[in-house]
Amino acid sequence: MYRSRAWVEVHLDRLRDNAREVQNSVGRASGILPMVKANAYGLGLEVVTRALLPVDPWGFGVATVSEAVALRNGGWTGPALVFSPVTPDDLARAAAADLTLCLSSVDMVERWAAMAASTGQKLRFHIEIDTGMGRAGLPAEEAGEWGAAVQHAAAGKLVWEGCFTHFHSADEPDPAPTDLQWSRFNDALAALPAVAPGEPERLIHVANSAACMRRGGFHCDLVRPGIFLYGGYVGGAVEPFPVAEVHARLVHVREVQAGATAGYGATYTAQNGQRWGTLAIGYGDGLPRALGAAGGAALVRGHVAPIIGRISMDMTTIDLTDVPNANVGDIATLIGRDGDAEILLDEVARQAGTISYEILTGLSPRLPRIYRDD
Ligand SMILES: *Cc1c(COP(=O)(O)O)cnc(C)c1O
Repeated sequence: MYRSRAWVEVHLDRLRDNAREVQNSVGRASGILPMVKANAYGLGLEVVTRALLPVDPWGFGVATVSEAVALRNGGWTGPALVFSPVTPDDLARAAAADLTLCLSSVDMVERWAAMAASTGQKLRFHIEIDTGMGRAGLPAEEAGEWGAAVQHAAAGKLVWEGCFTHFHSADEPDPAPTDLQWSRFNDALAALPAVAPGEPERLIHVANSAACMRRGGFHCDLVRPGIFLYGGYVGGAVEPFPVAEVHARLVHVREVQAGATAGYGATYTAQNGQRWGTLAIGYGDGLPRALGAAGGAALVRGHVAPIIGRISMDMTTIDLTDVPNANVGDIATLIGRDGDAEILLDEVARQAGTISYEILTGLSPRLPRIYRDD
C-alpha cells in the first residue's frame, strides 16, 4: 500500500544476522551495545531496537537525549547511553528518563551529581577519554588530574559505570593509529583512582564496527557496533548482510530520438534512438545527486539501467534501452538486489564520494520504511 512511489526496504533478519557476526567476532564475554543514533542510521529506531532484542543487547547507544527518550517511549527500560556531550539544559530530561550520560568534563559530572542530589536518584555516567578523536572526552594524558576530580564529584551521588574512547582509524588498513589510541587509553585507565569500596567495576569499551570485525573488539566489557549492523562494510574478512534496499517505481517510459536531452542543464544528449524511463525518486528522497555524473545506475527487471543527466529533487531519468519489456509500474532498485544483479550500499557511497553512513542517514522521511523479517 505504501509502495506506490519509492521506499526503503529494511531486512530485520539480516540486521540480527549482522549482530550475531559481531558477537562471534568479539566473543561471548563482551556485551553488545548497538549504536542506534540518528534513527538507527536512518532505518527506524523503534523497529530496529525491537528487532535486536533476540540478540540480547546489554544496552543501546544514541547521540542525543531526545533519541534516548524515544528509546524509552519505545519500551526499552535497560541502559540507554547518550554519547554526544549534552548541555546543562538537557540534564533534567535525562534524569527523568533515567538515562546514562557520557560525560567529557568535571564540570558536567558536578552538574549531573547536583541533579542526582535534587531528584534523589542514583544517576549513572560513563567518562569519555579523548585519545585522538578530538571532539569529546577528557584528555587521556591528564587522567591523573581529572580522575580524582571526577571521583570526588560523583561520590555518593552518581554511579561511575564506565570509561571509553573512540577510534578514528579502525577502518583503515594500518593498525598503528588504533594501537596508539589503545595504549593511550590504557595508560589513562591506569592513572585513574581505584574504584571506591562498594562501587561497581567500571565497564570498559572502545570498539566501533571496524574494531569489532577487524580487531575482535579488544576484549573489552562492551562493544559499540553501528554501521556493520546496518550492512556497511568495514574492511576485514567478513562482509555484512545487506540490510537496506532502496526501490522506486518506474512512472514514465518513452522512446526518444537522437538529440533528446535529459535533466537540468541538459547535460545528457541521446546519440541514437533510445528508450528512457523516469523513476519516482530524487535527491529530495536522499538519492545522492552526485550519482548522476558518477556512473550511478538502477536495476530494472534484473538489468542495469544507467542514470542519465542530473538527478532532480523528485525524479531521476534512466536509460532503459537494454532492458527488455520495461513498463510503467516496474520496481527499480537503487540499492539492493534484482535477480543476478546487485547494487551495494558501499558502491553507491563510493560513487557519490561519501560513506555508507551518510547515504543511510540521508534517506529522507519521504521514503516509507518497509520492514521484512524472513
Ligand atoms: C557512532 C558511534 C559508534 C559506531 O560506529 P560505527 O563505525 O558505525 O560502528 C561507536 N561509538 C561511538 C561513540 C559512536 O558515536
